[in-house]
Amino acid sequence: MSQQLTPQEFLDTVLVPEKQSEHICWQCTHLKPVLKGSKFPPADIIGWCKKIHWPNYWCVADFNVVKKCYAYEAKAKG
Ligand code: SF4
Repeated sequence: MSQQLTPQEFLDTVLVPEKQSEHICWQCTHLKPVLKGSKFPPADIIGWCKKIHWPNYWCVADFNVVKKCYAYEAKAKG
């Protein structure tokens, strides 16, 4: 099974995010999600954007759902 996964798909299975939401960022290669069980980040953060405002990550908040983004890039598929 794991041999059929792309590197991105494999990372998605081992790096399980803490949250789920309607953000387009979940499908974007630039999101670094808060991982399940992480105690550090504020509760309203789903992750960090590695593209916008680089090198200072932009926190993607739970309450401010991003539905369109000029910097969106789909995650690589098989
Ligand atoms: S580039 Fe846009 S869509 Fe992608 S993670 Fe950053 S804010 Fe979200």
